[in-house]
Amino acid sequence: MKLYNSASHRKEEFVPNHPDIVKMYTCGPTVYHFAHIGNLRSYIMEDILEKYLRYQGYNVKRVMNITDVGHLSSDADEGEDKMLKGARREHKTVMEIAKFYTDAFFADCRKLNIKRPDVVEPATHCIDDYIRIITKLLDTGYAYLAGGNVYFDTSKLKQYYVFNDFNEDDLAEGVREGVEKDENKRNKNDFVLWFTKSKFEDQALKWDSPWGVGYPGWHIECSAISMKHLGEDLDIHCGGIDNAFPHHTNEIAQSEAYLGHKWCNYWMHVLHLNTATGKMSKSKGEFLTVSLLEEKGYDPLVYRLFCLQSHYRKSLVFSWENLTNAQVAYNKLIARIAGLKAGDEPVDEEALKALDEKFRGALDNDLNTSLAVTTLYDTLKYPTNDATKLAALGKFDAVLGLDLLKKAEQKRRETQAEQAAGAAAGVTFEGCEANEEVEKLALERVSAKKTKNFAEADRLRGEIAAMGYEVLDTPKGPVVKKA
Ligand code: AMP
Ligand code: ZN
Repeated sequence: MKLYNSASHRKEEFVPNHPDIVKMYTCGPTVYHFAHIGNLRSYIMEDILEKYLRYQGYNVKRVMNITDVGHLSSDADEGEDKMLKGARREHKTVMEIAKFYTDAFFADCRKLNIKRPDVVEPATHCIDDYIRIITKLLDTGYAYLAGGNVYFDTSKLKQYYVFNDFNEDDLAEGVREGVEKDENKRNKNDFVLWFTKSKFEDQALKWDSPWGVGYPGWHIECSAISMKHLGEDLDIHCGGIDNAFPHHTNEIAQSEAYLGHKWCNYWMHVLHLNTATGKMSKSKGEFLTVSLLEEKGYDPLVYRLFCLQSHYRKSLVFSWENLTNAQVAYNKLIARIAGLKAGDEPVDEEALKALDEKFRGALDNDLNTSLAVTTLYDTLKYPTNDATKLAALGKFDAVLGLDLLKKAEQKRRETQAEQAAGAAAGVTFEGCEANEEVEKLALERVSAKKTKNFAEADRLRGEIAAMGYEVLDTPKGPVVKKA
């Protein structure tokens, strides 16, 4: 499989460090508010990566943090803790809102068929790990104390801007926009590992440390949580593109300074979901949630399909019109699958292999999900029996997560129920007088069809025709007209 690596700026063949396991780390949500559908675009695409690795036979261990402390209003070290702001907004404690929004996040993930990572670790559970890492960084000269806080010294590194397709000056400006400069920093990119002094003294959660009572910076949590559960090396680290700088840049700086060797091999960044008016932002409080999509009558999996229809390395514009188009495509796809009948035919292994190759070919090329979705239509058109088509669709859906077979079965049952309701409503005579004998034959024909006795149904149609009538099957039941 080829995967674009933001660290090398090119597509690379994916080769894990260890043959028996792929170690994958994902930056989790900051739980001060609901996840918006932009956040969830990142998690959907990361879910596809994990599931496709498993599809290829890899054993994956995936770890995700929950940011419940330390993420300040700016992604650099200035401003107030986002959790504290959220708690004040809702007149609750920080831990109450952390629990509420963590649960809400995983409820949204379930609706979108995003698998829960193998390990989910809240940042507040790992204070000892941060203290251990920061202590070593201080001992080895990579960190310094200033004004009561501990800072990482970026001037000690050979290279700081690892994702250097960004312009250094723009990045430094953008992150600090509208916030005061921290005079304790020796270099403009230095970042806080541990706070004991902040302008916001009402920080709710504080812990004892060798440097005084305080709390960790945001970046240290991901390095520490990854090492705690995945050890000293990592295959793939994921996140939205906004995480590349400063968050991931700082993670690499502190992890490699601490370990003394390369830490993570592949970096996957998902581009943003935007609206016509710009970026979707949790902090501004104006954003779209899964619940809102449901309130408007959309199946959450329609949003998943909408995301799969475009590549993760392109930004995506959300509009209700685009979502409606995805809804129409999803309904049609499900209706076509519902029309397949497995019967007793054996699966054609040759055809299945050919379809599987197409599917892999799409995802092997840096997760081309829109082409993988096209493979579903190719499968429906493929010259093979329905049993093979259903087997292929079920297999592919283990990665795509669109509930194709489940929804098709649901659709089939609904159609049958509609037909049964039609039959119960009786026979309609259109443009002619009701005829008792013909009505009896038409109802017998409904029973014959229900038990799949199509020969008998045809015979009854013939009998009705012989009496000078024609019968039409409609969702409201049989309609009889004069022939
Ligand atoms: P947060 O909860 O703000 O820490 O963000 C959770 C994840 O969503 C991170 O991986 C972010 O990079 C990602 N993210 C934030 N905004 C967007 C967006 N508009 N589109 C896609 N991903 C996003
Ligand atoms: Zn992170």
